[in-house]
Amino acid sequence: MYEILGELANIAVKVIVLIGIIKIIKNKIDDSKTAEEKMTDKQKEIRQKEMDRYSEQTEKWTCPSCGSLNQKYLTTCSCGKTKE
Ligand SMILES: [Zn+2]
Repeated sequence: MYEILGELANIAVKVIVLIGIIKIIKNKIDDSKTAEEKMTDKQKEIRQKEMDRYSEQTEKWTCPSCGSLNQKYLTTCSCGKTKE
């Protein structure tokens, strides 16, 4: 009878240890997921910046005389230089 109780206690300890290991592994997986999400956000941010830069280049023109950015619809810069 006591042998069975001892065996049950042994199994209980093993189960507790196993649950602990599973929790550690689960936390590690969650951490790696978070890192992945952060990376994706960073990549989105970089992509957005590239798109902004691209639209800035297409929507605006740089004055060759004073170097200021002018809107596409403007044909003359504030300094008087006309768009080429
Ligand atoms: Zn100008």
